[in-house]
Amino acid sequence: MEGTNRVIFFKKLIEPEERRDLADDDPTSLRGKVATAKLPDEVRLAAEAEIARMEKTDPSVAEYAIALNYVECLLSLPWTEMAPGSFDLDGAARVFASSHAGLGQVQERVLEHLAAHALGASRRFSILVVDDEPIARANLELVLRREGHLVSTAANGQEALRLFDSETFDLIVSDLKMDTMDGQQLLEAVRDRSPETQCIIVTGFATVDSAVRAMRSGAVHYLTKPIDLDDLRTAVTDVLQSRRARYRMRAPLLCFVGPPGVGKTSVGQAIAKAMGRPFVRLSLADMRDEAEVRGHRRTYAGAMPGRIMQALRTVGVRNPVFMLDEMDKMGQDARSDPAMALLELLDPEQNDRFLDRYVDLPFDLSEVMFIATANDTSRLRGPLLDRLEVVPFAGYSEDEKVDIASRFMLPRQLYEHGLTHPRPEVENEALRHIIRDYTDEAGVRGLERELARLCRKLARIHLEAQTALPDSLDVEQVTALLGPARYSHDKAGFGAHVGRATGLVWSEKGGEIIFVEASSMQGTGQLILTGSLGDVLKESARIALSHLRSIPAAFGLQDVAFDRLDIHIHIPAGDVAKDGPSAGVTIAAALVSLLAGRPARADVALSGEISLGGRVLPVSGIREKVLAAARAGARTVILPEANAPDVAHLRATVRHLPDIELVDTVSGALGIVLTPVAGNDRHMPPATTREGRA
Ligand code: ADP
Repeated sequence: MEGTNRVIFFKKLIEPEERRDLADDDPTSLRGKVATAKLPDEVRLAAEAEIARMEKTDPSVAEYAIALNYVECLLSLPWTEMAPGSFDLDGAARVFASSHAGLGQVQERVLEHLAAHALGASRRFSILVVDDEPIARANLELVLRREGHLVSTAANGQEALRLFDSETFDLIVSDLKMDTMDGQQLLEAVRDRSPETQCIIVTGFATVDSAVRAMRSGAVHYLTKPIDLDDLRTAVTDVLQSRRARYRMRAPLLCFVGPPGVGKTSVGQAIAKAMGRPFVRLSLADMRDEAEVRGHRRTYAGAMPGRIMQALRTVGVRNPVFMLDEMDKMGQDARSDPAMALLELLDPEQNDRFLDRYVDLPFDLSEVMFIATANDTSRLRGPLLDRLEVVPFAGYSEDEKVDIASRFMLPRQLYEHGLTHPRPEVENEALRHIIRDYTDEAGVRGLERELARLCRKLARIHLEAQTALPDSLDVEQVTALLGPARYSHDKAGFGAHVGRATGLVWSEKGGEIIFVEASSMQGTGQLILTGSLGDVLKESARIALSHLRSIPAAFGLQDVAFDRLDIHIHIPAGDVAKDGPSAGVTIAAALVSLLAGRPARADVALSGEISLGGRVLPVSGIREKVLAAARAGARTVILPEANAPDVAHLRATVRHLPDIELVDTVSGALGIVLTPVAGNDRHMPPATTREGRA
């Protein structure tokens, strides 16, 4: 009875997709499987040792099942299996064009990265063979050419050095004793000229002394004649592998950064398709324990390999495209830091021998193409960030969303819901209506959900009423199906309010619109800040107030008795993380509006850091912020003059944008957002903007 329970318990530890009938796996059958599996020698020996232990153990004892699980695990890992994969640039561009729209720069960056990766991976190494015996030289040349290397030859050191004038070599295989410059002298000369080139010395007159001298001069291997060809191959492979690892080390990993639903995962899948490799994704969100990445030691009851090995087992090859999702959400606790295990995983010097604690044998991860994703790079720690090439995925404009929906997402949803004969269309205006009134996001995930909802409704009508569906759905029909609008496109609002200004902030969900409210009461000159503001934002508020107090007349505030007032600044919207300096100019607008009694236009949204002297300083996330302003129905966006290049790029890539005004001073911004109060506007200096607005 006890034995039966145990088998059930251990059955649970095996992943469902490879759960087999354990009754079949006795030591004899396992031996057969190990004999026929393509395993590296090291792994085969470990599996056989474990099977030998099982043979000496009673099957009802826990150790038996532990060993059984372990051998099963070794057999299930793709030690040698590789997806054949190939890559051509045109093919990759076609994969992107047939699955994505509106990627712009992202597609260019990814294709460049893939091209460099493909070139690096297929690069042949060049070897220079130096020997004064023609037969030895020819033999070495032949052997190394057969291994697929580019081989040049020279009869002595001097001839070899001359070749260095016009070529670069990864490796020299040189005889030691030669007339006109021997191997030792050649080594020293090459060290000066081409320090990256590695050297293997070959000699028929090996002495300890000569070997020591050669190694001191930088030779990495020392072989004696007659050369054992296996030794030569091993030495050459050794050297070239470490060179390949060095190249890889310089090539950073791609890290897709952007709000949710902008296509980071689906671009990863497209890369895998373009490379002919399987795709696997592992979410790092809230992973706190290093053991989750690297596994638990086998001695723990219920131990399992880490998530990396489990993912590779699922995918069945050792060269997949492997997405490490939400790297910025990875946790850490006092005892264990999964980021350390990740660093090792991503380090090409170490990842060809990645050691999972459960597997306990080095696994070669160097052929895996890792891609990281994050919403916000500021949460990534330095050493990890150093390894990553950040590719920003900004949100999509309304036009881009319509394009993505009509070309890709709607046809996919209609197909998945069986609505293919006939296939109803949705007019572009109706799609725009769905985007505006049923979603509020930088990406398109919510849009995809709404399209799925629409398709479910259509499918039901079709089945229930047995009626033909309309050929094309317009705004009215879509509204009838989807029900009342969920979002107001006029979130920014209309009119103008005293003491309330509209601002734009960046958050990891994309750009967001916020409102800064200011009020004052009798008091003692205190500044009260509420709305879960971060430290940087609180400083912005202090800077804004100090600037106004330093030159009150410039803002019409000369009669304000600041020391007898308490000023309260509040930024509602509990779910928006509020920090960063970019609300400075919005706070200044709300304050002047309140204190000078000049209403601030609700449909003008501001973003800009301010200095104590009243300059408006550049901010980041321009595209995200302007798109958020457009979603919220703002008519005008005020941005720092210094962000002019970002704005020019945005104008070149997005057709429908709100008016964008660039300012370099606080008073310039106020001249646009605050409406004049009769008789009071003489205090306001004219706005200076790049557009020449007065
Ligand atoms: P992320 O990983 O950034 O959160 P996803 O890759 O999961 O986003 O994208 C969400 C959905 O939107 C997917 O169905 C994806 O195919 C679709 N999608 C996102 N961007 C695009 C695009 N540029 N073109 C076509 N479809 C897209």
